[in-house]
Amino acid sequence: MKVGFIGLGVMGGPMAANILKGGHSLTVFDLNPASVATLTAAGAKAAASPRDVGAASDIVVTMLPLPSHVEQVYLGPNGVAEGMARGGLVIDMSTIDPQTSKRVGKALRERGIAMVDSPVGKTSEHAVTGTLTLMVGGDPADIARAKPVLDCMGNQTFLCGGLGAGHAMKMTNNLLATTIMCANTEALAIGVKEGLTLELMVEVMKTTMAWNQQLAVAMPKKAFIGDDSPGFMVKLAAKDVRLAVDAAKALGFQALVGEGALATLDRAASLGYAERDTAALMKIREDELGIRVRPQAQPKAA
Ligand code: NAD
Repeated sequence: MKVGFIGLGVMGGPMAANILKGGHSLTVFDLNPASVATLTAAGAKAAASPRDVGAASDIVVTMLPLPSHVEQVYLGPNGVAEGMARGGLVIDMSTIDPQTSKRVGKALRERGIAMVDSPVGKTSEHAVTGTLTLMVGGDPADIARAKPVLDCMGNQTFLCGGLGAGHAMKMTNNLLATTIMCANTEALAIGVKEGLTLELMVEVMKTTMAWNQQLAVAMPKKAFIGDDSPGFMVKLAAKDVRLAVDAAKALGFQALVGEGALATLDRAASLGYAERDTAALMKIREDELGIRVRPQAQPKAA
């Protein structure tokens, strides 16, 4: 299959490489020439614009930062829609809001181009190994056409509904995962300031409804050892929570907990941690309270 890929960043670069490894021919575009060079060295062709990617491809995949980028790349001047033949298919894998996805999909459909959304779960390491979680929305016939390409990038696929449903799933997931992270850092910081050890809090919480995967898996690898190297960056977490808070507003509903998480993330960003891992949320609370939420030496037996 002739596949195009636009947005060759931390996630998109390795995802595009896996499409090449899957035996498809690949045409790529990115604003960053160094990212394009990595893919051409692996056997992809470089295009001069999203329009040219569209013209060269049966299926175009996008992995871009923001809803405005997705809209621009598909429908803007020199966009994919200008170049792609009727009957083409596009797969947007960026994390954006369902409303933008539906709007772009409708405009493309009027030009005879089908769209599937498939935002991804897990991390950049899983992008490299082709083992991402895929949350897919769209018409079943379009999803079936997209499957050989999707299968190059992910190993767990969830069909979520019509176009935009994948984005709705991803947005919901990230709102919850990030608010849990914010709540964890707040609670643990208060506990340490009150004189509790991290070990004690973890042991107790393992037995109660407070226990969660951020505490069990993510924080021991990053926050609890003071490692805020990215990872999942504060600015991307803020973007995802903002998408959910705004989507809630559009639905006539105020996401109060999400707004609290967003304020926490924005504060971390304003303190210079925008491009650090969300483990930085623990750091800012530690600095504020003059504490460290880290494992202690083993307590002596009573
Ligand atoms: P990134 O910033 O590393 O990559 C984005 C790429 O898009 C860059 O190479 C940039 O040059 C390119 N780009 C931006 N605007 C463009 C345009 N108009 N035309 C062509 N190229 C353009 O970001 P990323 O970490 O790869 O994330 C991409 C998307 O995936 C985001 O929506 C993010 O929220 C989501 N996501 C990220 C992770 C993660 O762990 N990093 C995990 C799941 C989902």
